[in-house]
Amino acid sequence: MSQRDELRIAIVGAGFSGLLTAVNLLQASPAVRVTLIERRGVFGPGTAYDTGNPQHLLNVRLDNMSAFPDRPRHLSDWLAEQPSWRAQDGFITRGVYGDYLQSLLDAALDDAPERLTLIGAEARTLDRLDDGWRIGTSDGEIVVDQVVLALGNLEPASPPGVDDAVRASPAYVENPWRLDAASVEGARNVLLIGSGLTMVDAALTLRRPGRRFTALSRHGLLPRAHAVAPPAPFVGAFAGGPAEVLRQVRAATDQADWRAVFDRLRQSAQALWRGWSPVERRRFLRHLRPLWDVHRHRLSPGAARDIHSMLAGGELTVLAGKLTELKAADVIEVAWRPRGRRRPIRDRFDLVVNCTGPLGSIGQSVEPMIRDLLQKGHGRPDPLGLGLQVDDEGRLLDAAGHSAQGLHAIGPLTRGAFWEMTAVPDLRGQARDLARRILAQG
Ligand SMILES: Cc1cc2nc3c(=O)[nH]c(=O)nc-3n(C[C@H](O)[C@H](O)[C@H](O)COP(=O)(O)OP(=O)(O)OC[C@H]3O[C@@H](n4cnc5c(N)ncnc54)[C@H](O)[C@@H]3O)c2cc1C
Repeated sequence: MSQRDELRIAIVGAGFSGLLTAVNLLQASPAVRVTLIERRGVFGPGTAYDTGNPQHLLNVRLDNMSAFPDRPRHLSDWLAEQPSWRAQDGFITRGVYGDYLQSLLDAALDDAPERLTLIGAEARTLDRLDDGWRIGTSDGEIVVDQVVLALGNLEPASPPGVDDAVRASPAYVENPWRLDAASVEGARNVLLIGSGLTMVDAALTLRRPGRRFTALSRHGLLPRAHAVAPPAPFVGAFAGGPAEVLRQVRAATDQADWRAVFDRLRQSAQALWRGWSPVERRRFLRHLRPLWDVHRHRLSPGAARDIHSMLAGGELTVLAGKLTELKAADVIEVAWRPRGRRRPIRDRFDLVVNCTGPLGSIGQSVEPMIRDLLQKGHGRPDPLGLGLQVDDEGRLLDAAGHSAQGLHAIGPLTRGAFWEMTAVPDLRGQARDLARRILAQG
């Protein structure tokens, strides 16, 4: 705590994780001052919920999307007071959820205007001081007692084979989270690299009469869909290494709806992951991750209906294979090798969108903030390189493996420690617990 009897905390990133850490801190103590630093120009919705597209639905039922673990009806109570919103089969649009987050920010500003400061800038550097931290931003410097890194998912990066000429081509989109559909109106034949939720988003955003999409991924697997009505819960338990858990899951799905089995598995995912050795974690990522991803990251029934109608009408084709070459010409020339075959197939696309999702390796990140803190040794990658290594309290481990005093991480950056730390049902508890720990430590 600083000598002024107040605790000054900067939170870098104002998506769900950063905002909810701020809200929990401010609600829990009148002696805390929070500065939220966000580079997007909008505070609250972050990458996921900053969309006005009505086809972008949540991929978690609204009943499970309250921002507070102890107040499960908080979102539905807020919705009941809104003049207009729509839900399809229990799934609201991501834009409405962004409004909900905005309302939490507005309430925090109303309740404690002098204790919450918003800075619209990119945080780029971090320096340890004798009794705190200095953050260098695109707009100046700020000195605080403690820092929370809530940087979210790492920005997508192009897969191997994409060179500078392709990257510079107007027919190539490296980051679909910033896709401007109006700028690619003329495209007829579109390649989507990847076949997960990011691909679904891109296909629904870009869908136009006469446009054809090809989605290409290693396994050619599409995300599975939520049931229209939630299935009866499965009450079994899972234990052991990845192969044993897989066997238990298969046996369980003989007796119960696979979605219920997976929902139960998801509740145990953090404990299982934490119990696995580095070798087991690696084995899971190498062999089971594709299966995990398609069952875990599900489509809302509405999005699934749209995608299946695109498949049935020939608007979308999903292929399994590996990209071997992309060449920028007036269009993009692509070579890819179908799974199990040796000979590549060549094709031409007038738009290629990278839908491989968030970058999965922190060592490859070009983010100034991440590069700076790794270079200065304030943090280090977790053993699998998924994010930053943190201790049980959420503090970063520095290059020597010591817990960094007053430097915390939350959200997808901490996946190496917890694995399941990407969606609201996990993040809301992490935000509450981190706020409590910060206040307890002072
Ligand atoms: C397209 C999409 C849809 C999703 N849908 C759902 C869903 O329906 N349900 C669900 O539970 N989960 C969903 N998720 C998962 C999502 O990751 C979490 O729900 C949650 O939004 C993550 O919040 P976050 O704050 O950790 O990350 P983010 O939302 O990514 O926020 C991080 C913020 O940090 C900012 N930032 C990063 N670096 C800096 C810097 N150096 N300086 C300043 N600002 C910085 C970014 O601009 C960003 O706004 C979705 C994710 C995506 C990408």
